[in-house]
Amino acid sequence: MTDEPTKFSRWRRDMVEKQIIARGVSDPLVIQAMIEVPRHLFVSEALVDSAYGDFPLPIGEGQTISQPFIIAEMTQSLTLTGQERVLEIGTGSGYQAAVLSRIVYRVYTIERNNTLYLRTRKLFDRLKYHNIVTRYSDGTTGWKAESPFDAIIVTAGGNRIPEPLVNQLIEGGRLVMPVGGLHSQELLRIEKTSTGIKTVNLGGCRFVKLIGEHGWPA
Ligand code: SAH
Repeated sequence: MTDEPTKFSRWRRDMVEKQIIARGVSDPLVIQAMIEVPRHLFVSEALVDSAYGDFPLPIGEGQTISQPFIIAEMTQSLTLTGQERVLEIGTGSGYQAAVLSRIVYRVYTIERNNTLYLRTRKLFDRLKYHNIVTRYSDGTTGWKAESPFDAIIVTAGGNRIPEPLVNQLIEGGRLVMPVGGLHSQELLRIEKTSTGIKTVNLGGCRFVKLIGEHGWPA
């Protein structure tokens, strides 16, 4: 992004310093990715000046893009090193997928809302994020043909972890997802081991609904 106004790169560095590093995110790959990805291009024109604020933002269709810190924390929790194939459920604005795409080999992302799916696919093309593969479907059943994945991130809240997603993780794979009720959830990080599932609770959070066969009803 050589022609971007310098105010955006300044705001972005500020965001990373004050909201992300200061709060304990230390993974250099996550920090670098968030310095790179132009978050203001993932929100509507009217919200460009709020894009680097410490809060979630509406992206249309009743959906939201998470606060930068939550994105950083979820991404860091996947303990990525660079060669992974990662599945995301809930493409939305595409920002989370874009951050992941700067770190890993390939990102597979699924969106159930057709308007968001089409809009964000175009944006990925425009920004030349060629290692992001998109799909329009119910992500709660995963993406069997491309499985298994090294890591899975679910960016909408459900009342349980969809079983197909666990099945589509490699042994040693990590999954992060908000789990709980409709109005508040706990961010869970699970690791699939040879003997079962190891779960860590990363704390309370609030996400939009995961709707689908293994989520909430529409
Ligand atoms: N990761 C997104 C967050 C978008 S909000 C971003 O960075 O902007 C969550 C998204 O999940 C919404 O776009 C919603 O339509 C989508 N969603 C909800 N249930 C889904 C499902 N079963 N499969 C795929 N997408 C789903």
